[in-house]
Amino acid sequence: MQDRVSRIVIVGGGSAGWLAAGVIAAEHRIEPDAQQPFELLLIESPDVPTIGVGEGTWPSMRTTLQRIGLSENDFVRECDASFKQGTWFRNWKTGSGDTYSHPFTVPIDYADADLVPHWLALNDAPGYADAVTPQTALFAGCQAPKQITTPEYAFVVNYGYHLDAGKFAELLRRHCTETLGVQHIKANVSQVNAAENGDIRSVTTDSAGEITGDLFIDCTGTKSLLLGEHFGVPFQSCQEYLFNDTALAAQVSYTEDNQPIQSCTHSTAQTAGWIWDIGLPTRRGTGHVFSSAHISEDEATAQLLAYIKEIAGDDAAANVAPRKIEYRPGHRREFWHRNCVAIGMSSGFIEPLEASALVMIELAAGMIADQLPATRDVMDIVARRYNRKFLRHWNQIIEFLKLHYVLSARDDSPYWRDNHAAASIPEKLSEQLKLWRYRSPWHPDAEAVDDLFPTASYQYILYGMGFDTEPRHTSSHRQDQRQRQAEELFRKNAARARQLQQALPSNRELLNKVKEFGFQKL
Ligand SMILES: Cc1cc2nc3c(=O)[nH]c(=O)nc-3n(C[C@H](O)[C@H](O)[C@H](O)COP(=O)(O)OP(=O)(O)OC[C@H]3O[C@@H](n4cnc5c(N)ncnc54)[C@H](O)[C@@H]3O)c2cc1C
Repeated sequence: MQDRVSRIVIVGGGSAGWLAAGVIAAEHRIEPDAQQPFELLLIESPDVPTIGVGEGTWPSMRTTLQRIGLSENDFVRECDASFKQGTWFRNWKTGSGDTYSHPFTVPIDYADADLVPHWLALNDAPGYADAVTPQTALFAGCQAPKQITTPEYAFVVNYGYHLDAGKFAELLRRHCTETLGVQHIKANVSQVNAAENGDIRSVTTDSAGEITGDLFIDCTGTKSLLLGEHFGVPFQSCQEYLFNDTALAAQVSYTEDNQPIQSCTHSTAQTAGWIWDIGLPTRRGTGHVFSSAHISEDEATAQLLAYIKEIAGDDAAANVAPRKIEYRPGHRREFWHRNCVAIGMSSGFIEPLEASALVMIELAAGMIADQLPATRDVMDIVARRYNRKFLRHWNQIIEFLKLHYVLSARDDSPYWRDNHAAASIPEKLSEQLKLWRYRSPWHPDAEAVDDLFPTASYQYILYGMGFDTEPRHTSSHRQDQRQRQAEELFRKNAARARQLQQALPSNRELLNKVKEFGFQKL
């Protein structure tokens, strides 16, 4: 076959480049002597650093690491990783110390029962997430999602990770080059060369000559060297909906050796953005993401330092030097153009709220690996499908992230007031919010089986933020019966929460044991 796709070139060696390399190489064995040779090359600049942030993952990362063939013990030990079970939000509702959680576990009996109307009917109900999942009971005690006897990647309650982004890329690089046969070229791409038909024929590098390929994967970060610069695929800003465009990132030491490691990302709203706080075994990663149109860098820095002072003391705040990262929130209009597909920051980035960037990389790499076009002839069909799917994902990210801002009752700064302006709310989200005044989101609200955010996530944010739904009541006999059944589920959930609190170790205890003994290998 003349135009067989047999040589893939990835440009960029951040989390996107190496995750893509790992997932594709694991799926398509690279055997130099095979009848139909398949080659995967990754070109990485020795001069342009990776973005160096991106420390929170979704539970999907467990499946991705397994797919690549990495042991969870090695991953946890080498990436300074800890277990993440969701996000804990503070000051998002009123700015006066309010809190709620978005856990990774769906509500109890979620397949069959929508518990929202029954939870709304309770007097003195606990927070929505606390009433319907035992997971949030583990947050306060910084508890782990499993025991040392639980096998690798298995869980007692669902979890993802917090990790050191630099160490993660390094582990993936070693595994890809030493075990999966990926060729690693350290060079700067200085030119992109077009073929007669308009595809990319090759890239010219400063120290490794010209490199040809059949499919090019652009993982060059915000530069978007191939898709953006070479092909000129337009960038679609979403700043009219989501205003944040600058981050100040810092690393903070623990105040004591055995200080607890948080079970979830902490997200604390500020006057023009929010501060993330991620606990790794050896340090905390924290940062302020904000809208430069609503607050000066000096004020944003002062808010971050005040937060660091609160969590780690005066010395930590005095000695930290936050790193500034500016970005344009949005995404490319299409992601796969001709024989080039962009993954990671080169395809877009909105903001770290809900940590949806790494999962998009996993999904992109997975789809490319699963549907790798056999020939150039069929590539455009795969590209169209890919573009449709990922545009849907990006739109859902915009709507779901905006939900957090729209629901806030904060009125203490122009940022929050602008966030409530009707023009800043995507039309679909406005419609959904109208519907959800009378019924809670549930399975019928899912657009596709592979929606990025399940309807359970909408429930956690809506009812965590105090959204008011007035459900229509059915006949009173059926209603009473369902209410009794639901209350039984709430009791069952509370009992399970107590049981897990007794049974599960702290994050730090478990991570120390993993370092010493490891989980049982799969
Ligand atoms: C403040 C902030 C917080 C974030 N937090 C999270 C989070 O909690 N969870 C999450 O999922 N995501 C998060 N993200 C997103 C996440 O960091 C990225 O999606 C992820 O790191 C992937 O980055 P990347 O590999 O696309 O780009 P980069 O890390 O920027 O890598 C780009 C690569 O391209 C190479 N390159 C560039 N130019 C050339 C050239 N000319 N020739 C050869 N190579 C070249 C560079 O050397 C580098 O290797 C966050 C992002 C920001 C900005």
